[in-house]
Amino acid sequence: MKRPSLKMPLHSFNKSASALAVSLLTVSSFSAHASGEVNVYSARSEALIAPLLDIYSKENNVKVNLITGSADALLSRLQSEGSASPADVFITVDAGRLYRAKEAGVLQPFETKHLDKVVPDHLHDRDGYWYGLSQRARVIYYNPEKVSADDLSTYEDLADPKWKGQICIRSSSNIYNQSLVASMIDANGEAETLEWMKGLVANFARPPAGGDTDQLKAAAAGVCDIAVANTYYFGRLGSSDKAEDRAVFEKLNLFWPNQAADKRGAHVNVSGIGITASSKNTDNAKQLIEFLTNTQSQEWYAHVNNEYPVVEGIAPPKSLAKFGDFKSDDVSLSVLGENNRQAVKLMDQAGWK
Ligand code: FE
Repeated sequence: MKRPSLKMPLHSFNKSASALAVSLLTVSSFSAHASGEVNVYSARSEALIAPLLDIYSKENNVKVNLITGSADALLSRLQSEGSASPADVFITVDAGRLYRAKEAGVLQPFETKHLDKVVPDHLHDRDGYWYGLSQRARVIYYNPEKVSADDLSTYEDLADPKWKGQICIRSSSNIYNQSLVASMIDANGEAETLEWMKGLVANFARPPAGGDTDQLKAAAAGVCDIAVANTYYFGRLGSSDKAEDRAVFEKLNLFWPNQAADKRGAHVNVSGIGITASSKNTDNAKQLIEFLTNTQSQEWYAHVNNEYPVVEGIAPPKSLAKFGDFKSDDVSLSVLGENNRQAVKLMDQAGWK
């Protein structure tokens, strides 16, 4: 079978050439659907996907070709390659970005009985264009020497003037914050969300700078008393082999927002995967996605990247286990993409740099 050539070097997970030949022979002799390979474009770094792809490749005798890159670069590449793209699946983080890929026309809808059963409805696209693979919450961290947990409650409360000059959060150009605001628009409407952000911005300890880990370090260093960050960044600090990272983790406490019975729960987001519109190996693509949502893979995400499984009944990351279970906002993550444009506009109006 002639395939368009891949222009970038590939990290290839494959058995020996003879084993591949055997697999191709077997496939063709049964006129089976699988062509024996699957091409992955991943905005997740190689360390966070390659070991799983390697296991999949060995277990299923399918050659996996991996290209990694930034989310934006890979999306542009998929768009410019169009129907000639060799990619079968696209992996990226944040429902906002998965939505962009769907809107750009580079994905196709699909479903499988396994995915329908194991991935909760709110953690996949409502039209089946992408499914969550791992879950993270975007929550509050505080310095217990400065802040009492009794004074914390909700995301909404972070706009209260009592927190003036105490909050660290990264810039509005970051998709995680845009998705958080998109969820607030869904919960509270645009006008209330704009007012909330004006209050939040007024409470910033400093102009937004750096990534999530920098906010946590700033809170531990006393630059601010409260930080907002994704859970895996905190878990990563807690399980780091660097003493200074673990000191940041020890200094702070995690607070699950919006947990009261009448509240919607903590804001969650996903890393996710979709099958490309150009895919020529859709059966392998589906098989790979089912593999990535099996128990073994879900445990791996929790263990290696301190993420929460999307599949229920699997233990949370060890580094975050002491913070217990939490109630998560079960708004469809499709909403985060749909509200993104409005979120960005309101963030700008509120003066969130
Ligand atoms: Fe991240």
